[in-house]
Amino acid sequence: MNMNEQMQQSEKSILHTYNRFPVVLDHGEGCWLYDTEGKKYLDFAAGIAVNALGYHYPGYDEALKAQIDKLLHISNLYYNEPMSEAGEKLVKASGMSKAFFTNSGTEAIEGALKAARKYAYAKGEKERYEIVAMNHSFHGRSMGALSVTGNEHYRKPFEPLIGGVKFADFNDLDSVKAQITEKTCAIITETVQGEGGIYPAKQSFLEGLRKICDEKDIILIFDEIQCGMGRTGAYFAWQSYGVKPDIMTCAKALGSGVPVGAFVLGEKAAQASLAPGDHGTTYGGNPFVCAAVSKVFDIFEKDHILEHVQELTPYLEEKLDGLVEKFDTVAARRGKGFMQGLVITGVPVGSVVTKALENGLLVISAGSDVLRLVPPLIITKEHIDQMIGILEKCLA
Ligand SMILES: *Cc1c(COP(=O)(O)O)cnc(C)c1O
Repeated sequence: MNMNEQMQQSEKSILHTYNRFPVVLDHGEGCWLYDTEGKKYLDFAAGIAVNALGYHYPGYDEALKAQIDKLLHISNLYYNEPMSEAGEKLVKASGMSKAFFTNSGTEAIEGALKAARKYAYAKGEKERYEIVAMNHSFHGRSMGALSVTGNEHYRKPFEPLIGGVKFADFNDLDSVKAQITEKTCAIITETVQGEGGIYPAKQSFLEGLRKICDEKDIILIFDEIQCGMGRTGAYFAWQSYGVKPDIMTCAKALGSGVPVGAFVLGEKAAQASLAPGDHGTTYGGNPFVCAAVSKVFDIFEKDHILEHVQELTPYLEEKLDGLVEKFDTVAARRGKGFMQGLVITGVPVGSVVTKALENGLLVISAGSDVLRLVPPLIITKEHIDQMIGILEKCLA
């Protein structure tokens, strides 16, 4: 079958919820992907910020294969070593207290919301169930996560969603304060808004949220699903602000390719929220995915992945700023570390993304007009130069 026939075959049986790009990807190597007809693509999408280590990173496949030969799944009724190891490493990297592994980002959000509600409930404040979320946020597609996603278009067809959610403007503390009541149990925000268009939080915004939450004993949830796991040069983006949440969610790069997420609780939330019987998952944190998480942390440490992101960020930013100077269609750059966005004007961002694909570069969009770059964290200067070369060609 050629690529066209493969695409047609897929459309016959797979529910059409995505307008996919016209390419069938077959295999990857390093920071490159290859389609079924052998054409290669420089990958600045990384499976939507998942493949932090690119493809076939030394030692990663071997760790997964070894775990397959040992044990894949046992349920959460028994202990398993990979989960203990992955949990220990996640808690250490975040400086938080307790982790719960999930199968996805959206499930990590569900868990975080339940933990926040349970925290208030356990204190005897049963009327305290309101959650303040941000406009233009994205937290996932399950009903709870959708309820706190600040995008009307995603929410509308599925209402009524969970009650008691109020929206405020990201990076606008007064707007958040206006939504806080006696009933507020949690504030949830991405540390760097991803899908909404790559907006890093302001220092004063996160500090202000922390202060409000401390004063009123509100649970502060940072969604680090996209911006976490080294993407901004820290393990978790909030660490570079020095503002610690009560609960954090992560997923995407956590397993760098296997479906795994987690919500991680600080001391306060861990001691007085979810208890036996309150939450569960059949697959979550099974030995296979946790062997991946554990190996990812080992590789990050051994090969200094965070330092690499920190070192290369100025170069990436300088090159992208060059595009802003050179092309009228590139209005601005926003971002943090290897999570960067270019604001495209005059032409639809989708047309630039499609042109890049034709020219052998995978990038994605965010919001209505942002070209999003979330490459594997192992890219080199040469990859950046190649990416810039292709984008220059597309924008010209
Ligand atoms: C991708 C994403 C999610 C949802 O994760 P899934 O694994 O797709 O369920 C939630 N929050 C943020 C910030 C994300 O980028």
